Amino acid sequence: MARHRSPGGQAPSPALDDALDGAVVRVRGTHRLPAPSSALRGRVVVAAVAAGAFAAAAAGQTLQAVSSTDSDSKVTPLASSRDATSAIGVGGDAAPMGAPAAAPELLPVARTSDASAEVQKLTESRQVTQARIEREAREAEAARKAAEEAARPKTVRPTAGSVTSGFGGRWGTMHYGLDFRGSIGSPIVAAADGVVIEAGSASGFGLWVRIQLDDGTVHVYGHMNSYSVSEGERVKAGEQIAEVGNRGQSTGPHLHFEVWSAGGQKLDPRPWLRERGVEL
Ligand SMILES: [Zn+2]
Repeated sequence: MARHRSPGGQAPSPALDDALDGAVVRVRGTHRLPAPSSALRGRVVVAAVAAGAFAAAAAGQTLQAVSSTDSDSKVTPLASSRDATSAIGVGGDAAPMGAPAAAPELLPVARTSDASAEVQKLTESRQVTQARIEREAREAEAARKAAEEAARPKTVRPTAGSVTSGFGGRWGTMHYGLDFRGSIGSPIVAAADGVVIEAGSASGFGLWVRIQLDDGTVHVYGHMNSYSVSEGERVKAGEQIAEVGNRGQSTGPHLHFEVWSAGGQKLDPRPWLRERGVEL
């Protein structure tokens, strides 16, 4: 060691030189400077640490030689890799080397990093779970609606009252529909799904509503007191469309209901309804 402290900063022996790496070479270069600054010494320490434990220990010896030429003697040999780690953590000689408090400072940093990753994972996990819950809720709602639609009656009786007059010859003329008993204002509903093709005044019917089904069949509702649908509107079986009235050629409040085939032929509504599950 005395050799290292000789004036002029004599280099280590060739044998030792062979055993050292670039870190020591840099230290020797630094040694040639008249008065190394504290920051520069810090960089030297970091460079030595990067070279590994053995190189660090060796560099420590050289650094000791450096400090001997400097009035500041805070730089001490790096005795272990643990000290080297603390040297990185505190950024050179900003804190005393080998101080017990220096080494643990790195650990909280590592824990914080792990915790952030855990929080990120948990957040992503919650988001995935929430998305799944929402998707399942949408699917359940869609399934419920599909089941409800499948179970919904597609044909219903158009009003609650009993049939008072059937399809056929009556009083020397032809009656082309069914008459349902009712009182003014009794609800009339669509007997089947369809589109309103006409709603308004009609000779003999007073007011009428005509609804065309998807297969072209047309339902006719007459004598209503009022209606609540308009042309072009799509309605579903059971949906209220009007109220029972006594308009047109009528002898009392009732619903007159007709069924026309797609070709315009007037059919007996009773069998037509019966075939679709509605017994009058
Ligand atoms: Zn009638």
